Amino acid sequence: MSTSPPLGISFEFFPPNTEAGREKLVGVRDALTARAPRFFSVTYGAGGSTQERTLTTVRQVRSSGIATAPHLSCIGSEKAQLRRLLAQYREEGIDSLVALRGDLPSGMGGIGELRYANELVEFIREETGDHFEIAVAAYPESHPQAASFERDLENFARKVKAGANLAITQYFFSADAYFHFVERAQALGVDAPIVPGIMPITNYTKLARFSDACGAEIPRWVRKQLEAYGDDSEAIADFGTEVVSRLCQRLLDGGAPGLHFYTLNQADPCLRILDNLR
Ligand code: FAD
Repeated sequence: MSTSPPLGISFEFFPPNTEAGREKLVGVRDALTARAPRFFSVTYGAGGSTQERTLTTVRQVRSSGIATAPHLSCIGSEKAQLRRLLAQYREEGIDSLVALRGDLPSGMGGIGELRYANELVEFIREETGDHFEIAVAAYPESHPQAASFERDLENFARKVKAGANLAITQYFFSADAYFHFVERAQALGVDAPIVPGIMPITNYTKLARFSDACGAEIPRWVRKQLEAYGDDSEAIADFGTEVVSRLCQRLLDGGAPGLHFYTLNQADPCLRILDNLR
């Protein structure tokens, strides 16, 4: 695997929907700002369902002085709506985005004018030139709807070639899956950095649910051990920190250009992992 220049660490938040959640996020943001991340990012609900809350959260997080990238998904949205949002982000001085297709919640309207993330990246480039640094999603263990690993890899390469600057992966627990994906993407001509997405392990039930939905495999030995801990959240956190710290160290030692943490709006699990890294 040839290596990209180091991009450091980044942290992802979701837009809280309660006042208590917003207040808590300020403390989380401050604790993570102390680790000098390259950027924060804030998720976005498909069809624009969190449009206002994503923007409010981006403003709140950015006031730390750390660059903050809103996620933007195209499914269920019209071009006019996306155009307005891009203009608003530019006016606010935002210069990076995470561009996604997204998933349409069941029962929600039509697909919209852009069907896949590569079309969204093309649209952003057509509308705004080189203003935004664009990150896209990558799936070392394949996207759950992918026809095959090969097709998914080609679709990934297509969206990078449409104008993405970097990619962030879905989380995974197999470093080999990441290294294999990066090598295969590079063989298809992808030279953008592919940053591993890291999910700290804090709650087995939630992790199992997320992983089933997004196609991330929890290795049997990890699953069995987490199951055995039952409600013992301290044991789960200790074991989870050890497993994910080792994964991160292996990824960095193998040439990963950085780490992007899915924080779930909690600082401590990420800080414990970072403290374990060389
Ligand atoms: P795409 O790249 O469009 O791929 C979707 C599927 O279509 C894949 O199976 C792919 O192989 C196939 N495909 C792609 N292009 C084509 C094409 N041109 N022709 C035919 N098939 C094609 N979801 C949210 O709702 N909000 C978020 O904020 C959010 N943030 C995320 C951040 C990261 C880093 C990651 C990894 C995921 C995130 N997601 C988010 C989840 C994401 O929206 C879903 O995984 C979604 O199902 C796919 O989005 P995508 O951009 O990867 O889609």
